[in-house]
Amino acid sequence: MLDEFVAEQKIVCTILKNSVEKNKYSHAYLFETNGYKNTNQVALAFAKYLLCPHHYANSSKCVNCTQCNLIDQNIFSEIQIIEPDGMWIKKEQLDQLQKEFMKTAIQSQLRIYIIHNAEKMNEHAANSILKFLEEPAPNIIAILVTDNMYQLLDTIVSRCQIISFAKNDERNHTMVEKIMDFVYLPITVDKLQVEQYVDTVVHFANYLESKGKDTLLNTQLTWHSIINDRDKNLMAFEMLLLFYKDILNVKLNRKVEFYDEYQKQIQDIAGKNTLKQLTKKLMIINQLKERIKLNVNQNLLIDELIIEMGGV
Ligand SMILES: [Zn+2]
Repeated sequence: MLDEFVAEQKIVCTILKNSVEKNKYSHAYLFETNGYKNTNQVALAFAKYLLCPHHYANSSKCVNCTQCNLIDQNIFSEIQIIEPDGMWIKKEQLDQLQKEFMKTAIQSQLRIYIIHNAEKMNEHAANSILKFLEEPAPNIIAILVTDNMYQLLDTIVSRCQIISFAKNDERNHTMVEKIMDFVYLPITVDKLQVEQYVDTVVHFANYLESKGKDTLLNTQLTWHSIINDRDKNLMAFEMLLLFYKDILNVKLNRKVEFYDEYQKQIQDIAGKNTLKQLTKKLMIINQLKERIKLNVNQNLLIDELIIEMGGV
């Protein structure tokens, strides 16, 4: 129930509860996790709060409610949860959802769909959900949960009420843990390996920044020998993106968000690049990262990255 999360997410819980109490809830929410681990559970608790006829946020008060009981047993058809099927959320999953909701739509009753890892919607899925959001049915509520809001289409973001979760207490969070919260992680990769990949990515970026296009002569050693399949490439590109975001942070006199153990390298690269160059580089990484999903040749992709980054 929603009250369980008040201690950790006071503001979020207050906003959500108020919106229901005042009957001013949105048709689409975007939950930005900011690394908060229980965001999916909060989404479900909020769905439950919306559907419970008494709007109880505390389970000790709601003892005899059919809705809450059914939700707890996971057999309540008014809530649909969509998760990535493998690496991506596919259009077929959303088509299925829309069919499901059309089939048994009961006008008076709310229906809620929750999309976990919404940034993992492929292009077709994103367009399909956009249509859904553009013509919202009065009784349907969408909750999109994402770690990376900037990976969603602007047109989707602009149609949602953004609920930004408070960051976890990061005092005991190591650099690698912070990075792990924000990048795609292949299931086969453990924390120790992540350290190695982070190191490889930073090393590669430094090499690229100092050698430019000559990096092409050394991709086997600096990249392919360690980052050797599609999943790892996707993870590494996301790590690289965060690294350049940190460089941009420093350029803008902001604090380093992720790579605090590499302050020196970040300062150096920030000093060597103009703001315009950094934005361009971020764009290049992001665009090439999208192409990993399309199964392009991974070797060529790195070559293209080097050529494009070297030409900025
Ligand atoms: Zn209830």
